[in-house]
Formats: sequence, C-alpha cells, structure tokens
Amino acid sequence: MSAAPLSATRRIAVVGAGLAGLACARALHEAGVAVTLFDRHAEPGGRCATLRSPAGPFDHGLPWLAAGTERYAGQLRAWSDAGWLAPDPSAPGRWIAQPTMQSLPARLADGLLFAGSLEIAALERDGPHWLLRPHQAAPFGLDLSFDAVVVAMPAEQSVPLLGGDPALADAMRTVRSEPCWTVTAAWPVALPIRDDELHSPDDVLQRARRDDRRPGRPRLDGTRWVLHANAYWSANNLDVREPDVVKRLLDAFARAVGVRLARPSYAAAQLWRHAEVALPHTTPYGWNAELQLGACGDAWHAREGAQGAERAWLSGRSLGEHIAAGA
Ligand SMILES: Cc1cc2nc3c(=O)[nH]c(=O)nc-3n(C[C@H](O)[C@H](O)[C@H](O)COP(=O)(O)OP(=O)(O)OC[C@H]3O[C@@H](n4cnc5c(N)ncnc54)[C@H](O)[C@@H]3O)c2cc1C
Repeated sequence: MSAAPLSATRRIAVVGAGLAGLACARALHEAGVAVTLFDRHAEPGGRCATLRSPAGPFDHGLPWLAAGTERYAGQLRAWSDAGWLAPDPSAPGRWIAQPTMQSLPARLADGLLFAGSLEIAALERDGPHWLLRPHQAAPFGLDLSFDAVVVAMPAEQSVPLLGGDPALADAMRTVRSEPCWTVTAAWPVALPIRDDELHSPDDVLQRARRDDRRPGRPRLDGTRWVLHANAYWSANNLDVREPDVVKRLLDAFARAVGVRLARPSYAAAQLWRHAEVALPHTTPYGWNAELQLGACGDAWHAREGAQGAERAWLSGRSLGEHIAAGA
C-alpha cells in the first residue's frame, strides 16, 4: 500500500480567525490539509467586524476593502462576482461586504472546522507535536494536538505564543499597532449633514462615516454614524472612560459638520487596542520549518502597495500555500 499523501495526514492549527487566519486556513483546506481554525471570539472576523446594537448593525472595524495589488484585486472581483461584496457608491475602487462587513469572514469560514470562544494561552511542545492550551475548557472530543501551528493575530498578541522560536517572537516585537477609539451613534431622525463621509476634519477625528446608507444595510428610521478617532488621540486617551470618549468624539463630529447635534438615541464607545499597523515587518510571513511554527497577519509586509486588510489576506494566503506545498 502506498503511503498517504502528506497533506491527508498532517493536522494544522491556525490560531486567529481574522482575514489572515481565514486566508491561511482556506489555502490549506483547498490543498486537502486537515486544518482547525481557533478564535477567542464566538464568530470569525477579527477586525473585519460588525457590531449588533439595539439601534441596528454598525460596521465599526475595517470600513471597506480596497486593492493595491493585482492579486488582491482579482480576489475582490471573485468575491464580488459571488455576490459577497458591493461597490462602495462613495468611492470608486472600494468594496463593502454584504449584508454586513462580518458576513465576509463568516462566508470564508464556511466548510472549515472552526473552534470559537477558545482563547489560546500557550503552545507547548509534546514530542514532535504542538499542544494548544486554551484558557477555557475545550469542547469534548476536540483534539488539541497538531503537527504544525500558525499564529494569525496582531503582533503584540502573537508574541507570547511564538516563544518557541525566539526569532519569530523578536520579529513581532519590532512591530507596533496603533489604537483606535470608535464611537457608534444613532439618531431617530436624519441629521442635516450633506456628506456621508468626513476625513481627518480635526486633531481628534480620523474619519466619520454614515453607516445606514451603505448598500444592503437595513433601512431603519433615523441615521447611524461610525466615528473613528485618530491614532494619536486614541493613544493619548487609552484610559479615558467610555462615556467621556463618546462625548469627546460627538463634540468633534458636531464641530466638523458645523451642526448642533441632537442627543443620540444610542451611543457607545469601543477601543480597538491594535487597530492598524503603521510599519509592518519586512517579510510576507514567518515560518520555521523545523519547528512547524508560523505567523501571518497585517503585521507582515506581504507586497508593495498593500494596506492593512490586504496585507493580512495576502500574508495568510502565501503562508498557507507555502505550508501546503510541503514546507
Ligand atoms: C477601526 C479600524 C479601521 C481600519 N481601517 C482600515 C482601512 O481603512 N484599511 C485597511 O486596509 N485596514 C484597516 N483596518 C485594519 C484591518 O482591519 C486589519 O489590518 C485586518 O483586518 C487584520 O486582519 P488579521 O487577520 O491580521 O488580524 P485580526 O483581524 O485582528 O484577527 C486576529 C484574530 O485573532 C484572534 N485572537 C487574538 N488572540 C487570540 C488568542 N490568544 N487565541 C485565539 N484567538 C485569538 C482575535 O479574536 C481575532 O479574531 C482597520 C481596523 C480597524 C479596527
């Protein structure tokens, strides 16, 4: 009897189900490798997220998808042809996932073995295998022993899991993510504001974006906005209480549009502690073939011209293809 192909016997864990982890897991799955995708949240997506609130859904993380490389442009076209993305009417070349931003990762996870609500605290060597140690009790029957592990998460969060390879951990120590305070707010009536988007209007706001007029979003009464503070203001106000962040960002928004804003019917603040990476590491991904340990995500350079979400996708995809090729 001939030996089973490597891909059929090899079990790989991908820790982190953002765009990078999904891209890596899909590439492995398409090559016939048994892959399990872990995330500390119940649903996949990471920063490609949608907040479900009493006032309706808000795309409060990654606002849209746009390509700076041919490879990713082709991927966006394929997702658009499948009906997963719609063109953003506010700007040519930008795409919005349908019916919410988080629908894209949910679709990408379709057919994959996804273990949600498990935060991996440590990776331990167990002979030739890796043993995943989650904070929570794993569901009965879920095997946590793997031949290889890919860590697909923000640089700062990945360091403790990459300790088995000091070079990989050190590479991630050089990368800094920038924070972003985000306010989601709804008003029961339309606001007298002409534009649906404002960019860098002052030293607090990075962007203000109307959320309820995006293609495919539910037409509820009133209006919903997402406000992103800039990285500098966010970094200098990390410990501010959420109600105070709501007030500061709404005041900045009112100043920017020159309108006295009515009290919103709903408002909440969320801190993305690792929102975007200004200066990624110089290589597309990290891989230690001897240890069978790798890392990918927006902390890695991927390709010239690629922004955060695109870097994450290309980094994960390239690493998945590399491992599937027998690395
Ligand atoms: C507010 C905001 C605005 C943005 N704007 C833009 C933009 O305009 N353009 C752009 O290109 N990009 C933008 N980005 C960045 C973009 O969203 C990210 O670059 C991209 O989504 C990163 O994907 P990722 O898979 O590398 O990481 P993530 O999406 O962060 O995925 C990592 C996953 O790992 C999981 N995880 C972490 N630790 C553990 C653990 N111990 N165990 C298990 N799971 C774990 C997390 O829950 C998460 O799901 C923005 C991000 C934010 C938050």
